[in-house]
Amino acid sequence: MASPSFDQLDLIPPLSQAVRELGYEQPTPVQEQAIPLVLAGRDLMAGAQTGTGKTAAFALPILQRLAPQASTSASPARHPVRALVLTPTRELAIQVEQSFKEYGKHLPLRSTVVYGGADMDAQIRELRRGVEVLVATPGRLLDHVQSKTVMLNQVGILTLDEADRMLDMGFLPDIRRIIALLPKERQNLLFSATFPDEIRNLVKSLLRNPAEVQIAARNAAAELVTHVVHPVAREKKRELLAYLIQTRGLTQVLVFCGTRIGANRLAHQLRKDRIHADAIHGDKSQAERLEALENFKAGKTTVLVATDVASRGLDIEGLPQVINFDIPHSPEDYVHRIGRTGRAGLTGEAISLVAPPDMEALAAIERLIKKKIDRVLVPGFQPDGGTVATLMGREARGASRRTEAPRPMAPRPMEPRPTEPRPMEPRPMAPRPMAPKPQRPQGDPIFSRPYEPGAAPAAPAPKPEETTQQSKRRQPQVAALLGGLKRA
Ligand code: AMP
Repeated sequence: MASPSFDQLDLIPPLSQAVRELGYEQPTPVQEQAIPLVLAGRDLMAGAQTGTGKTAAFALPILQRLAPQASTSASPARHPVRALVLTPTRELAIQVEQSFKEYGKHLPLRSTVVYGGADMDAQIRELRRGVEVLVATPGRLLDHVQSKTVMLNQVGILTLDEADRMLDMGFLPDIRRIIALLPKERQNLLFSATFPDEIRNLVKSLLRNPAEVQIAARNAAAELVTHVVHPVAREKKRELLAYLIQTRGLTQVLVFCGTRIGANRLAHQLRKDRIHADAIHGDKSQAERLEALENFKAGKTTVLVATDVASRGLDIEGLPQVINFDIPHSPEDYVHRIGRTGRAGLTGEAISLVAPPDMEALAAIERLIKKKIDRVLVPGFQPDGGTVATLMGREARGASRRTEAPRPMAPRPMEPRPTEPRPMEPRPMAPRPMAPKPQRPQGDPIFSRPYEPGAAPAAPAPKPEETTQQSKRRQPQVAALLGGLKRA
């Protein structure tokens, strides 16, 4: 089959030129499928996550639909908001608006971005100039609506980007309030990595006869994310994490924690273990978070400890390992988390440290990804005998399965820890030291086929971090501070 080309998408010359200048050679699957539908004016429900090229999948056709009304006039009245894009986080909002600017650079259309945690006045000045494309986080947009610094009565296209995350962050009431301010006649586009029940309900109430596009992650074809669970006593998780990092010589690890406090504490403890670690979460300023990310990308920091919302949209080229220090309560967060590794066709490894209280969450993850994740005991770190069997599930007796040939020695030896003698080693089920797992031949089905919405359980209760956000209705913009990070 001929490979798809941007020529087939009938983009107008200012857009195809911009795409060429960006070096895009061919559309990604979500672009190939979504662009004609959006150009045709259809409502769209698209299952696609960050990294698939989803931004261009809506930005290009939106710009094309707005192009006939583009005006070179300086008058703000000639530049009403015609397309509104809502995103969960400020970083994603910035990124999306930047894309609109890049794709639309040969068109006289204006765009701007508004998000919380930043000066209203500068945003008001931009809004007063008049913009056709407005990218916003929901809370701050409502602040502008309230202070009458934005009019939404000419919005013809609404896009909800990362709709599942907006719901997770408690933005649904804000979204409904915003929708009520829009003209009834409009085109609606909804992009979401997952489709829990709330999203389906939103789709039903919001979209009219939507076209559906479902895309596997960009890394689908060649990706080789291996998943492994290390059963461990809860109080030994931190020690095991340090052990894995040191004995395997891991150099760039994204570690997930359930709470900001936990993330801070863990980064601090790892530093005490002489591991370069930093935390990234919503309590940090934008500048601090960008610095943490840059240091991590540049290899100055070995471990970046993140909370779920802070990791959203994070795109680090070739991130080799993701470690779940805390198991996510929402199995869909597991999918988001492991989506940070194995990107762009590179191999990746998703390691989960599972203590007895995490068993239920692990089972939910395995149900969602339709895969039994291998349990590998790390000698010296397993929970006591009584709980090993539960944690190992049916595989407990099949220990021999794990006695594969010893893996090559990791380059950096584990530092001796004289103050904490390692307990007697029981019969090893996995050789030590832990070293890079041998490649498994097959890709992970979670990425090699489209997400199956039927398998998705209802969204769980919000996590502590998010609950805090929701309780702060007066500062909804704070939630928008917690999100994905700008790419390099
Ligand atoms: P997104 O999923 O929209 O966040 O995009 C992920 C990355 O892919 C961004 O850095 C885009 O610039 C890039 N990208 C989007 N479309 C294409 C394309 N057709 N060819 C190459 N890169 C692309």
